[in-house]
Amino acid sequence: MKNLPEYLIEAVKPNSRQPNPERMSVTQLGDSPLIRTLWMENWDKIEQDPEDMLWALYGTALDTIVKAHNRTGLVDLKFEYPFDDYTIVGKPDIYYPSTETLVDVKTTSVWTLQNPRKEWTYQLNVYKWLMEQLMPELKVKKLEVHGIGRDWRKNEKLRYNTYPDSAFVVINIPMWDDVGKVIDADIKRHKNFPREECTLEEKWSKPDQYAVMRTGRKSALRVLDSEGDAHKWCKHNDHKVGANGIKIVKRPGEFVRCNQYCSVSSVCPFNKGEKK
Ligand code: SF4
Repeated sequence: MKNLPEYLIEAVKPNSRQPNPERMSVTQLGDSPLIRTLWMENWDKIEQDPEDMLWALYGTALDTIVKAHNRTGLVDLKFEYPFDDYTIVGKPDIYYPSTETLVDVKTTSVWTLQNPRKEWTYQLNVYKWLMEQLMPELKVKKLEVHGIGRDWRKNEKLRYNTYPDSAFVVINIPMWDDVGKVIDADIKRHKNFPREECTLEEKWSKPDQYAVMRTGRKSALRVLDSEGDAHKWCKHNDHKVGANGIKIVKRPGEFVRCNQYCSVSSVCPFNKGEKK
């Protein structure tokens, strides 16, 4: 727990209520069934380091700010929709009736704002679908993420022309057809394969990479996805591997989520602690 003061430890304390197996949040629906299953079974045993939860406070603070200060949008929407054996629960952050826009507010790194997460598209499309079922009188013509880059720095704008002009970014999210079919498939996956190993995507798999290095230089001359490509690159660029300090170094990949971020990794039968 290191040196966290009491008020932060209290603020990040996980919800101690027993999860209801019949209720499924939109986030859970789009995520791995195994993670949800292990959480259902072990929610009262798994200990989370408060320090790992600190970033989540930004989201909580932002939620409070949106609710307290938004004057033009609806901010208390909560959808509960029965689907198969479950009730799907979704809470979008804001709906603007004037522009018929559904918004989710995110605080994250600038890098993620520039490379938006697939799950944002999933969440907003499912929210839209739930809204159409439960509040058909309110139309949705646009989906947006309002993103705040918590590591945004003014100086970086001068160095990189692709860097955002502001810490606040509006990201337009594409709208999907047939969202009901996507939900149906995901509900079936949770129901029928609750213990299936997470996919490579869900494990945030980072594959092996091969760096072409030269003795005396810290950074790689080039990083490639396979050893063969690394050799080809060397040949193409007149670098003889083994001569003049040129060598190819394997950078082992890993399952980033399993190793660093998964809340149920300590009870996961597939997490053997190997790197990849
Ligand atoms: S440790 Fe990895 S495989 Fe196991 S539940 Fe977590 S993400 Fe899935």
